Amino acid sequence: MPSASASAGALLRHVRTGRARSRADLVALTGASRNTVSARVDQLIAANLLEEGGRGWSTGGRPPTLLQFNARAGCVLAVDLGVTSVDVAVTDLSARVLATAGHPIDIAVGPEPVLAEVDRLGRLVLEEAGLDTSAVCAVGVGVPGPVEFSTGRPSHPPIMPGWHDHPIPEAFARYDCPVVVDNDVNVMALGEMGVAGSDQDVLVVKVGTGIGCGVVVEGRVYRGAQGSAGDIGHIYVAPPDGRTVICRCGQENCLEAIAGGGALLRDARAAGLPVRTTRDVVELAAQGDGPTLELVRGAGRTIGTVLAALVNFFNPHRIVMTGGVARAGAPLLAGIREAVYGRSMPLAARALEITVSDAPDLSGRLGAALMAIEEFLGEDAVHRALTR
Ligand SMILES: [Zn+2]
Repeated sequence: MPSASASAGALLRHVRTGRARSRADLVALTGASRNTVSARVDQLIAANLLEEGGRGWSTGGRPPTLLQFNARAGCVLAVDLGVTSVDVAVTDLSARVLATAGHPIDIAVGPEPVLAEVDRLGRLVLEEAGLDTSAVCAVGVGVPGPVEFSTGRPSHPPIMPGWHDHPIPEAFARYDCPVVVDNDVNVMALGEMGVAGSDQDVLVVKVGTGIGCGVVVEGRVYRGAQGSAGDIGHIYVAPPDGRTVICRCGQENCLEAIAGGGALLRDARAAGLPVRTTRDVVELAAQGDGPTLELVRGAGRTIGTVLAALVNFFNPHRIVMTGGVARAGAPLLAGIREAVYGRSMPLAARALEITVSDAPDLSGRLGAALMAIEEFLGEDAVHRALTR
């Protein structure tokens, strides 16, 4: 394989991300020879992944022919499986949604009925977008539990009974293309990063029933040795009131047992607030109910003490909060900021941004699409496709 800096996949990425708009840009960016760049661009044009169109500004001599990425060269299926919902979208190769469908579902009914429904929704969105099965270049799937990334099999998922070791990729065999499966937090992290191109270091923290974190290093999801990087929900914290809480994992005083959505609901009920679900707690906070606001803010402070340690360790550009509890917005952020800015080292915190996701509902689908696109257009995959 050619050196990564000027491989066909690398050249394609430069055009996809807008860093290069002509052969001359690619020569300048990669330092490769004009002949090498031209030959690989011709291959990419023959493969329908690049198109020529229009003329750029000349800096002397003949103006260059502009190159653009052909995002319609294929499509990907994006599957966002939640604990209580399923959403399937078909997007083009720039992650633009062409059609989407979804509805509530209980993931605990098991893999066969859920994946049969995913299959039905997949056919539906392809039909709606006027696309054929053969147009699907890759499938990306996010699931609410740990996944062995190399095989796409869930690994002892606590809230997905019956799914342990289930070969999820086999459910998409009829598309005859790569299938990538990852946990929902990593997928959402990709979705928050948006279309390939950002090279920032970001923590995407999902606060739902549990708490998880997608670790993005230089624009790419970091998964760690076994794929469990970012599982911050089970980091030990000292509870603010000195009590001992047993976590669902069996350990004492895990972060999510003190400050996750389930913990918020438990504490709100114990305080006599009129709530049945975590969503009720979030809505009560949104209405400005004093005691609920203080509970949410307290959860934010506890999450913030863990994030402060992560900021010192990782020095991210940004932290993005997402998930059901993040919808509480201001009071949660206030607690988190108080702890993070109070406890992080000044250099690490100086330019740190902490925000709530703009589109938590869409980031799962967008991330699953981006994951599939990266699989299809990754440097190795493009090299293999062009030399086949
Ligand atoms: Zn735990």
